[in-house]
Amino acid sequence: MQNVKATIITIGDELLIGQTIDTNSAWMAQQLNKLGIDVFRRVAVADDEEDIRLALDEEIPRASIILITGGLGPTSDDITKPFLCKYFGGKLVVNEQVLEHVRELFAIRNRPFLEINMKQAEVPDSCTVLFNEMGTAPGMLFEKDGKWIISMPGVPFEMQGIMNNEVLPRLKEHFKSDVIIHKNIITSGEGESFISETLKDVEADMPEYIKISYLPAPGVVKLRLTGKGPDKEKIENELNAINTRIISILDRIVVSQDDIPMQELVGRSLLEKGATVALAESCTGGYVAHLITQVQGSSRYFNGAIVPYQSKLKNSIVGVKESTLEEHSAISEETAVELAVNARKMFNADYSLSITGQLSYGGEDAHIQKGLVWMAVAGKDDVKTKKFQFHYNRELNKELAAQMGLLMVWKYINGRL
Ligand code: AMP
Ligand code: MG
Repeated sequence: MQNVKATIITIGDELLIGQTIDTNSAWMAQQLNKLGIDVFRRVAVADDEEDIRLALDEEIPRASIILITGGLGPTSDDITKPFLCKYFGGKLVVNEQVLEHVRELFAIRNRPFLEINMKQAEVPDSCTVLFNEMGTAPGMLFEKDGKWIISMPGVPFEMQGIMNNEVLPRLKEHFKSDVIIHKNIITSGEGESFISETLKDVEADMPEYIKISYLPAPGVVKLRLTGKGPDKEKIENELNAINTRIISILDRIVVSQDDIPMQELVGRSLLEKGATVALAESCTGGYVAHLITQVQGSSRYFNGAIVPYQSKLKNSIVGVKESTLEEHSAISEETAVELAVNARKMFNADYSLSITGQLSYGGEDAHIQKGLVWMAVAGKDDVKTKKFQFHYNRELNKELAAQMGLLMVWKYINGRL
């Protein structure tokens, strides 16, 4: 057996000018991967008949499955449906079940049902209708030369609903594929080239059906092991053995064996210890608090945050000494320490993180080097500090600062700082 091959075609002018980021492809690829289906090409094209035709003509001979999203709205700029009808033959007919559903949706939303909306219930009689519970445009499944071509709306949650309810169960049933299994190891503390050098012998011993990838991200390098083949148990055993060997070699730089966001890792560590955290964030403006509270159940370990953005508030609200601010400035190790220590007390938390820095030029701290950020983590017995120099634009510097801050908290809690 071999892996079934799939192509993803996304349709939409907005994708090509960068107005909308193509998140559909990534999500669909993840789902297909779980079924052992290999996405080997991703194509983005404009809302243009000739471009869609060209993409289909090229992709249908290559892939067994083609997933298409976009262009299914009722307005003149959405041309995918009439085009597919022309391409695969057949004529557009009103589907009664879809029509009833569309009418219902309009009634629930208290909107008048217009003539143009009738079009949403029309489908080519040459396809299998894939019901769209979440919206008005149904998905369509066409078959050609044993290949499956599936068209879905571009709206991500509608596409996901159709995929989960209609597409994935059918693909699982119809296409038998080799398994694909991934394993992740998140490391922090060494660069990717150093790690790959360290793992040279492991890589040399790896069978050809297992591959390793190195993915650098802020503060961390992610390693992904991927095994493909017909024998699930054999692949699993082999992956586990390689994984164990890598973990023992990399030892203290291993942060996690799950590819989850840093805020979730911090949350897990806090829950394990039954401990809490608080923040005093200046230059990140509450962004770390936002990330932490993205995780469900974070109220169990996140006590709160304060954003003393202006210098004087670091004194009047968080109690950083005036003399500290005068002698060392708001962006200094001394200020970071006082922010962390005081925030820990204010919020009655076990740990606290402070971040104070200059993300780009301007404001009160125009005299300070751009990208300079001081952070401190305070616990019951001591405070650890770290100075960072970020080199990018404001937005990316903020992201990096937040990631490094979270990583610092994780390291402190786990005795790695
Ligand atoms: P459409 O089905 O072309 O009318 O798309 C409706 C909306 O879905 C668009 O306005 C986009 O905001 C969104 N969308 C379309 N394609 C994608 C995609 N590949 N990834 C994420 N969002 C998309
Ligand atoms: Mg569109």
